[in-house]
Amino acid sequence: MANIRLRFAPSPTGFLHIGNLRSALLGYLLAKSWGGKFILRIEDTDQKREVEGAVEKLLAILSWAGISFDEGPHLGGPCAPYTQTERLPLYQKHIQELLDKGAAYHCFCSAERLEKMRQEQTEKKLPPRYDRTCRDLSPEEVKAKIAAGEKYVIRQKMPLTGDVTVYDELRGEIKFPASDLEDHVLIKSDGIPTYQFAAIVDDHLMEISHVTRGDEWLPSYPKNILLYQAFGWTPPKYIHLPLILNKTGGKLSKRQGDVFVEDYRQKGYLPEAIINFSALLGWHSKDDQEIYTLAELEKVFDIKGLGASPAVFDLDKLDFYNGYYIRQKSVADLSQLCRPYLDAKVNDDQLDKAVTISQDRLKKLSDIKELTDFLFSDQLEYDSQLLIWKALSLDEVKNNLKEIEGLLASISAEFWTREMLEKTILEWIKANDKKVGDYLWPLRVSLTGLKNSPGPFEVAWALGKEQTQERIKLALTK
Ligand code: GLU
Repeated sequence: MANIRLRFAPSPTGFLHIGNLRSALLGYLLAKSWGGKFILRIEDTDQKREVEGAVEKLLAILSWAGISFDEGPHLGGPCAPYTQTERLPLYQKHIQELLDKGAAYHCFCSAERLEKMRQEQTEKKLPPRYDRTCRDLSPEEVKAKIAAGEKYVIRQKMPLTGDVTVYDELRGEIKFPASDLEDHVLIKSDGIPTYQFAAIVDDHLMEISHVTRGDEWLPSYPKNILLYQAFGWTPPKYIHLPLILNKTGGKLSKRQGDVFVEDYRQKGYLPEAIINFSALLGWHSKDDQEIYTLAELEKVFDIKGLGASPAVFDLDKLDFYNGYYIRQKSVADLSQLCRPYLDAKVNDDQLDKAVTISQDRLKKLSDIKELTDFLFSDQLEYDSQLLIWKALSLDEVKNNLKEIEGLLASISAEFWTREMLEKTILEWIKANDKKVGDYLWPLRVSLTGLKNSPGPFEVAWALGKEQTQERIKLALTK
């Protein structure tokens, strides 16, 4: 395909919503699958919502996720500038064109008048909609009002009858009755364009071939198409990505859990997991494969796998992916990643050991703290009853621990490996016709103070000979 250009057009509001990451990812993958370009455009015309440093944060989290661009405010490119507030003269020029063509008009209605109008419409159970009072002002009236310094917005002139038919690549043809469309605002009273205007002008000027955006924008689509028609431009193709619902079928909201990618990053979700998970929110492969790295997705992604039905955000699934990618890491890499979640006093050797014994159990990096805290405590606190396995008496527990202590003393620090510990203890248990649980349970509890933990050999190895012996001694005094 020639000249494929897709864009991600976020508003810099502070954090990246997981739904927006999904939009960015699917746009990126489609661009890759067609050998096209992927462009970043910052839509910052709603300055009330703008947050200091938001663009830098946005770039940081996208790059963490592995999504890169060919053009954008940080890279430049043939369509620069890529930040909407730096493009204001372009919108001025284009709105003038629409005014000249009679496709847009000045509206001088005051905020109070509009508020009163809306109240009356609500009382009459009518949809709140601009009543088009200024639509038919004569050019002279408009001129006079502007000369008198009256404030105005500029509205799009919508057709009054008939249907507007649009085509979505995933849904096919959709008809919107013109009577449902409002003469909405294109330029606000401060001269700044709305999303509806700026996005269309930019998509055209940036030669965007395919618009990928969330399907909450579907109701805007007829307005957008009418603007293209008014300008006489050919619209790009539109792909409205399916809605993301929570598990109970509602909207993803902050109340039910994290919605920002930054929150997941902070909790220790890996970019590989977030990417794999997000790609499958609305896309599936021909063979229903579930595990994909970004590099693999770039190779196999295909628009045919995109559907229009809502995708479900299932946190258990994200945990599954995260656990999977955590287990794929080398101990050295995983240690680096886990470092921020542990105390500074934990040294590199301890960190590697902590990671080795908990890698299988980590769902997210931050779990390392809770899972391995026992390794670093100077004095384990636990109830001595926990040491008792099934029908053992306290005396038997003591006896068993003493026997183990003797056995362990015979292993030199140099041979203190998991394999050696396991072999020595299990062979002794077998040779003496003892029960495994009668020995391993008290040993494990004396080393961890916990009901659930990694196994005793791994823990003894991670603790080292000296600490292992100290902890058994301590248990014997309980
Ligand atoms: N600025 C819009 C948003 O952040 C972009 C929508 C679009 O992709 O056109 O949702």
